[in-house]
Amino acid sequence: MNTNDFSIRHIGISPDDEKVMLDKIGVKSIEELMKQTMPSNIFLDAPLNLPEPMTERELIEHINELGAKNKVFSSYIGMGWYDTCTPAPIQRNILENPAWYTSYTPYQAEISQGRLEALFNFQSMITDLTALPLTNCSLLDEATAGAEAAAMMLNTRSRAKKNAAKLFVADDVYESTLKVIMTRCEPWDVKVVVGSLESFDFGADYFGVVLQYPNERGEIFDYKAFTEKAKAAEIKVAVAADLLSLVLLTPPGEWGADIVFGTTQRFGIPMYFGGPSAGYLSALDDFKRYIPGRIVGLSKDTYGKPAYRLALQTREQHIKREKATSNICTAQALLASMAGMYAVYHGPKGLRDIAGRIHTYAVLLAEKLEDLGYKQENKLFFDTLYISNISEVEREAIKSTALDCRVNLRYFKNGAIGISLDETTQETDLGTLLYIFAQGKGIETVPTVDVPSEWNGIEGGLKRTSDFLTYEVFNSYHTETELMRYIKRLERKDISLAHSMISLGSCTMKLNAASELFILSNPQFALMHPYAPEDQTEGYIEMLDTLKSLLGEITGLPAVCLMPNSGASGEYAGLRTIMEYHKANGQGHRDIILLPSSAHGTNPASAVQCGYKTVTTICDENGNIDVEDFRKKAHENKDRLAGTMITYPSTHGIFEPEIRELCQIVHDCGGQVYMDGANMNAQVGYTNPGFIGADVCHLNLHKTFAIPHGGGGPGVGPICVAKHLEAYLPSHSVMYGDDRIPVSAAPFGSAVVFGITYAYIRLLGEAGLKRSTAVAILNANYMAAFLEKEYGIVYTGTQGRVGHELILECRKIKEMSNIDESDIAKRLMDFGYHAPTLSFPVHGTLMIEPTESESLAELDRFIAVMTKIRQEIQEVIDGKADKEDNVLKNAPHPQYEVVADKWTHAYPRSKAAFPLEYLKENKFWINVSRIDNGFGDRNLVASLACCVWNE
Ligand SMILES: *Cc1c(COP(=O)(O)O)cnc(C)c1O
Repeated sequence: MNTNDFSIRHIGISPDDEKVMLDKIGVKSIEELMKQTMPSNIFLDAPLNLPEPMTERELIEHINELGAKNKVFSSYIGMGWYDTCTPAPIQRNILENPAWYTSYTPYQAEISQGRLEALFNFQSMITDLTALPLTNCSLLDEATAGAEAAAMMLNTRSRAKKNAAKLFVADDVYESTLKVIMTRCEPWDVKVVVGSLESFDFGADYFGVVLQYPNERGEIFDYKAFTEKAKAAEIKVAVAADLLSLVLLTPPGEWGADIVFGTTQRFGIPMYFGGPSAGYLSALDDFKRYIPGRIVGLSKDTYGKPAYRLALQTREQHIKREKATSNICTAQALLASMAGMYAVYHGPKGLRDIAGRIHTYAVLLAEKLEDLGYKQENKLFFDTLYISNISEVEREAIKSTALDCRVNLRYFKNGAIGISLDETTQETDLGTLLYIFAQGKGIETVPTVDVPSEWNGIEGGLKRTSDFLTYEVFNSYHTETELMRYIKRLERKDISLAHSMISLGSCTMKLNAASELFILSNPQFALMHPYAPEDQTEGYIEMLDTLKSLLGEITGLPAVCLMPNSGASGEYAGLRTIMEYHKANGQGHRDIILLPSSAHGTNPASAVQCGYKTVTTICDENGNIDVEDFRKKAHENKDRLAGTMITYPSTHGIFEPEIRELCQIVHDCGGQVYMDGANMNAQVGYTNPGFIGADVCHLNLHKTFAIPHGGGGPGVGPICVAKHLEAYLPSHSVMYGDDRIPVSAAPFGSAVVFGITYAYIRLLGEAGLKRSTAVAILNANYMAAFLEKEYGIVYTGTQGRVGHELILECRKIKEMSNIDESDIAKRLMDFGYHAPTLSFPVHGTLMIEPTESESLAELDRFIAVMTKIRQEIQEVIDGKADKEDNVLKNAPHPQYEVVADKWTHAYPRSKAAFPLEYLKENKFWINVSRIDNGFGDRNLVASLACCVWNE
């Protein structure tokens, strides 16, 4: 045992275990297994060229060295990112706590009540602060939330507006937001008109307006009259709003906005060089079926106890596919939980203190700057000053003094200077700022500020008068002891990787190693503003550039774009890259995407977001793409074929032998091949998309590359493309001044979490990555060898092997016993397990992906559990257990039911709660019984405000 070798910590299977497992499967070596699993014509002919693996110690030193190359200055740049005080108990107990960051999206609600409550708090915070009734539990960032708002307005046009195809965006909306909205509107044939609100004519051809409050230079205007006029003209209004400012300002919902969106970054989330942080969006009730993303709603369990679960699931792209109105899947759950908890910790009084202090400091600073002879133009403002009429000489003096003081200001192209204060600003910082501006005027005596004992509010008609966050949860946990216990209480309700294997197929719930995650808590990386000058960000850029070349090498597609904040966002970015390429080659008319029927729901949804039409091709009885059908449909659409989207190995977990031929068919018809990289965990080191023949792929770094799922985000979906597509990759026009399409608010999307993937690759090196792939496949085949008899495996490859995941047949069981896959999923909770993927990609099945990180002992335990459950099903089939009143139909069994004085079931309590011996030692107690989804959808309660209204 080489304790310096990180791969023995990451990979759960030792060489000795391996022998036992290979024996069970019936192969001699892991390489033989690989040969039986993957087609022979796609094995890489040379090993990946990656740096030698580091030890964990070396990695940490290396990250610190990179960090030392970053210079973290005080940031007053604003533009959507603000320094903030991350409450230490939230950092320690949520951000740095695997029970929170390793959990999955809360589809299995009964074992996710903790994070569902945290996200419900987030939703209540958003609805209260914006004064609109409906919201979701996060979006990717402010700019993409703006694009989602545009889509909602377009999709809900009134009959009179049926043909309206123009969107007006005020010229004082952040450029990053505007550019992402323009990117998204282009394929919808929506014309984006930019201008001042005064110039807007409320014309019949407009369906919506986007404006910003406070505007991009920090000024606040009263939009009430404008909004009323828009409403009268049946034009919808979406407002980008700084959430913290709404503590003091009349919220847009009170002056008529239809939609409000923005970011929650400044609610305790470090700037992280741009991300991740949670975007938000709230809307009027009319938009109920059009709100993108996930909504947490309140429902009840079988005993009538209130319980949370994801509401209105039928709107999601998994179900709606090409009819979906948004492709968003992974969002920013962990960051949303943190932002909501920030509001819990501070409560309305604390938030008023924070916002009031920022505003008061801004007012004081403005006065003193005027005393110094500067012109501050914002009449009404929250935290941002706009100083104009600065001479060239003054500006240079200010700039150089600021750099000496390690201060970044916002320098406008027109010569003006912006100053955005934030929660971290202290009296001494005001002194520094005044010193800098005094130097600009050559004044030696720096004015002093006298901080008042009470904070000012916003003056005039826009002062917020309505209460917010009056509910108990926001007024109970203001001490660290209380908050710590509240977080713990929620944590105890959730199953995460800290409890047991989460075998969700397609999701790759592998180890998220502690040393890989340290970068998130490193201030040299955490506190960086995305628009900090280049010479302050060298460590970041070095890491990101190296990562790009590593990902290029691993995928065989050398040009990489890091912007997309999720897999689905990567799909969109990749398809748009293909679109730009076709356009540049005079092939802009190509508008058809070929999609196998096994494709993940985000694929058709992303294609449609790009304005593409989809043609679905069928799969044969082995689960493989039917090559003849594929060929026929490609040729039929030869002149219009833009490309295809293929997941490899397929979502059925099988390496299709004809993959090269499929790529060739598409290329012969003039199309490009997009490979959905969600299943890269079965490829790394053995083959890759570039080698197979794809032109583009996205990677789900939160699946294959060790970024934790965070209960539904953050995720990252960088795209890797072949050389011929490089010139068409998305870029960030605000940062680089080019005219390429941006797809995220920040230049590098969720910049900081790339450090996790970077660490993962540097720790494992070529050999460790390759072995991870092989062991992932070994583990899946080992499970298949046991479960095949009991359940049946839906698809296997030509030589009887599965890839890195396997689909368990549950339909025959249902016919015999009326026990379905969902009953099995719920019963697994009684054993302390999260269910495998339910009914995707095949209805009536469970898809298991063990990953390489699980140990043989854990695999065996899970097999024992599945075997036990199969016996319980057999008891129903054999009539030994009641058809309805059995352990499966009644699962899960919550603690309150098991210990109740009355027990009415036909089987004993011990059978319900302790079906296997290990549970006596380590029982995960559930606190709700099975949740009624339908009830919650019929009575949608998506925030605490609704609870009050309904009472
Ligand atoms: C997870 C997944 C996606 C979507 O990725 P997100 O990061 O959730 O947007 C797309 N395709 C497949 C096959 C997936 O498994």
